[in-house]
Amino acid sequence: MLRRLLLLQLLSGSFFMYGQSSYFQQHVSYSIDVTLDDTQHTLSGYEKIVYTNHSSDTLNQLYFHLWPNAYKNDKSSFTQQNVENRQTKFYYSHEEERGSIDSLNFKVNNETVNISNYNNHEDIIVLELNTPLLPAQSIEISTPFKVKIPYTFSRLGHVGQSYQISQWYPKPAVYDKDGWHPMPYLDQGEFYSEYGEFNVQITLPSNYIVAATGDLQEESEKQFISSPINHPDTTALKVDSNIVSSTMYKTITFKQSNVHDFAWFADKTFQVEKTMDTLPSGKTVDCYSYYKPIHSKYYKGSSKIIANTISYLSAHVGEYPYKHASIVDGSLLAGDGMEYPNVAVIGGVSSVSSLQTVIIHEVGHNWFYGLLGSNERDHPWMDESINSFYEKEIKSLLQQKNSEPKIEERVGAFGDRINGVFLYQLSARKNTDQKISLPSTEYTNFNYGSIIYQKGPMLIAYLKAYLGEDKFDRAMKRYYNEWHFKHPTPADFKKIICEESGKDLNWFFEDGIHSTKQIDYKIASVTLQGSNLHVKARSRTNFNGPIPINACRGNDIIETQWIEYPYTEDATFKGLPTDITSIKIDANQQIPEIKISNNQYKLNGLFHRFQPSIRLGYGLGVTKKNNLFLLPAVGYNVYDKFMLGGIMHNLRIPNPKFQFTLSPLYSIETKSLTGSGFVSYSMLPHRIANEITVALQARTYHHNESHLNINQSIYARHIKLMPSITIDFKNKLARSPISNQLVLRYYHIMNQSLNYTKRMTDSLFRASLGAFATSRFASIKFAHKNNRTFNPFYYNVYAIGNNEFAKASIEAGIRIDYAQKGKAFYGRIYSGKFVDFKNNNNPFDIQQYFLNATNSSANDFTYDEVYLGRNEQSGILSQQVSMQEGGFKINSQLLNNPIGQNNNWLTAINLRSDLPIKLPLKVQVFLDAATYADAAKLNNSGKKAIFDAGLEIHFFKELLNIYVPLLMSKDFQDYTKSTYPKNRLLRTISFSFNINRINWFKTQQVIDVFN
Ligand SMILES: [Zn+2]
Repeated sequence: MLRRLLLLQLLSGSFFMYGQSSYFQQHVSYSIDVTLDDTQHTLSGYEKIVYTNHSSDTLNQLYFHLWPNAYKNDKSSFTQQNVENRQTKFYYSHEEERGSIDSLNFKVNNETVNISNYNNHEDIIVLELNTPLLPAQSIEISTPFKVKIPYTFSRLGHVGQSYQISQWYPKPAVYDKDGWHPMPYLDQGEFYSEYGEFNVQITLPSNYIVAATGDLQEESEKQFISSPINHPDTTALKVDSNIVSSTMYKTITFKQSNVHDFAWFADKTFQVEKTMDTLPSGKTVDCYSYYKPIHSKYYKGSSKIIANTISYLSAHVGEYPYKHASIVDGSLLAGDGMEYPNVAVIGGVSSVSSLQTVIIHEVGHNWFYGLLGSNERDHPWMDESINSFYEKEIKSLLQQKNSEPKIEERVGAFGDRINGVFLYQLSARKNTDQKISLPSTEYTNFNYGSIIYQKGPMLIAYLKAYLGEDKFDRAMKRYYNEWHFKHPTPADFKKIICEESGKDLNWFFEDGIHSTKQIDYKIASVTLQGSNLHVKARSRTNFNGPIPINACRGNDIIETQWIEYPYTEDATFKGLPTDITSIKIDANQQIPEIKISNNQYKLNGLFHRFQPSIRLGYGLGVTKKNNLFLLPAVGYNVYDKFMLGGIMHNLRIPNPKFQFTLSPLYSIETKSLTGSGFVSYSMLPHRIANEITVALQARTYHHNESHLNINQSIYARHIKLMPSITIDFKNKLARSPISNQLVLRYYHIMNQSLNYTKRMTDSLFRASLGAFATSRFASIKFAHKNNRTFNPFYYNVYAIGNNEFAKASIEAGIRIDYAQKGKAFYGRIYSGKFVDFKNNNNPFDIQQYFLNATNSSANDFTYDEVYLGRNEQSGILSQQVSMQEGGFKINSQLLNNPIGQNNNWLTAINLRSDLPIKLPLKVQVFLDAATYADAAKLNNSGKKAIFDAGLEIHFFKELLNIYVPLLMSKDFQDYTKSTYPKNRLLRTISFSFNINRINWFKTQQVIDVFN
């Protein structure tokens, strides 16, 4: 058949004909009887499917989805994807909360057939046909089945006796021109199903209210849901278990044609609200909202939102062909709502406005998924991006009608605008965005939201603005007319849009949908010639789309003109009113640009382009202004004491490429200026690296104090200048948890010394400030991190040195997760080598650079760590350590040769573990051990190794850690005994700050203030 067709086409010379006539789709006709057991939470069912082969192929096997098995164990693709996305609720669930499907006995035309799992997926089977299914023939497939309904972890599930029954029956995978499409159930990634008829009979206790795909058949049941719901006043009812299930059972029937799925929802507390919607053609649609009484304040009037959505999409895309559309207030863990034909379930509600958005979105899916049945798993933009575009259109129409402030404007009350482009920019500005045309499984969890639901709809809004509403609607109507009840592909959509627009839309499809090319348009010049205004614009990137130029009065757009690539023509505004205040690119902010501060040209005033603005706080969101932010600041260290000042910066989320911070502080104690500054520029190359950041950091504080003078102390200051280059390497797989980073730093450090001289007159020592001694170092660090959800690990290779010494090390660490959620074991190894280039006779000169088992301020010669007291011999501040090098907790820096200090090599291991008990504080046990060159000679005890062990307590997620050493090797014992004759335990307690963990703005500039 196929061969003959091809021959025919060759003869007629029309391959195009072949492409069209080869379209086919299989047909399925279901009858399902199912009974709900609401004490065991199970479904017992019997399913009969008439499957018709409309392809020209002979089928020897059929693929079936058994998706309740996704909840069977933690080997399923669903669990694995969830764990990768750091959602571990199902992974840690108990056996009785999980779900499955069994008791299957597949027969084809009443003969038993063999089934087997497909590729080890327990939720996909292959059904071997005893006799091949020929083209144009039908078979009857039947099987009993029993579903154990899981607790709601994703879409199918129950919370108490509230049931969400979706993806619940054995269902054939799609067979199309590309072959079979078997796919495991996933949270991130939706569906692709065959169209057909459903006849579903549901038996359950008679006081349940059921919302479902399909038209309800029984008159008695229609009356039951349309009369005021006949159960006690439930406005105060919190949980449905307050209502006892009836011992009487009822059987209700739902029928529907031309749908590709069937879902139903059962709850005893549902209130039902109904609105009848009349479409432009005069056809009526019943809109039902089923909601729990506790949510009535949000859901009152919600059936009207369904009607608004149905009317809008019927008028702009194609008429709704079914008799009803429903929404259900349910529990859901996969997103805010989930669509099924005729019926959608809504997850948690937080406000009327957000509920409206979710309703519009989910009801809209009746078109982009329900009627236009694209492959959602492979092309999520075809349903989610197009549907989200319409959701935003309908929502903004509703807001105009209700004169409700737009979402962005409400958010604007506390900062800048947070909207779709903000979420897109968060990843685009770090070069971690992905193109719109990928299959859903390839997106990172964040990008699935920011690209498919935000960038995609913006791009479509851009296309609509460019084509104009008439042309755009005409194209969408043709798309509907040609493809409803079918399986359109991206090529089918593209063909229609291009043909209807009559324009070259490469910028939309190739650059917009199929690439990550970033958009940044700029006004190049504005000139006035007589009463005509000429505007030139250009693209600052390789994305060359049409540029909308708006002449505005305030926020109102007076006239719009488009400049098309190659941007040789000006936009000419003739005879504009004189009160036009500015020229803008994309004043409505529909284009997903990565930078919009260059989109405006003011016709009057001091600055035409630059829009300076000074504010308190920091930047959040996307802005047209060039912001400068001010923040008050307080700093502290033991020498400068409290310092007061401010932070002036331009930091914002999303990150600007150029960032700076300047934090001048005044120390009342030292009566002098201290502070820090930071400036960086990020480049976003597309190959090898995601981001390359060049930065310069500067700081000056006091780090030592002399108390020898009678009248007043003298303070020594340090000045640090540190240029650096950081390269964040690109990982080819966006979902990979692996990151690699290379950091190069150069340190220029000037330390002021304190000199002590004996005065001849009174023989007393007097301190005076010495000159600045300059030291310079260069360092290089390669850091590899595998931040997978379970058992993440890292390793670093590091070297630092100058012409006197070099120090190199490798460090590796792992967290091994226990079976109990949130509890883990941590292991770290460190090995360092020190080389003295000059074989110094006086080791004291370079002792601060040596390797150390315990790291304290004495070893922080690069001023990279945060120490509150850098030269303290006693008191709590002398007990500050840092988890560098050996990672020991006991500080013996009072010794000339501290324990575990070495000028050759040092190897250490650090182990710690959470305790298996619940405590109000985060407490771990730790053990550190180390050995080093000539340890037996250097240690007074003659031992070759040292160790300490005890408890550590974490505060603020390991920001502040307190260590209580309880056991220690002989050398530490002797040291603590002689140094702390009294209160030994208390005085060996040490602590560390881990402020470097805070990564507010990716760089550390703010942190230096606290030093
Ligand atoms: Zn959606």
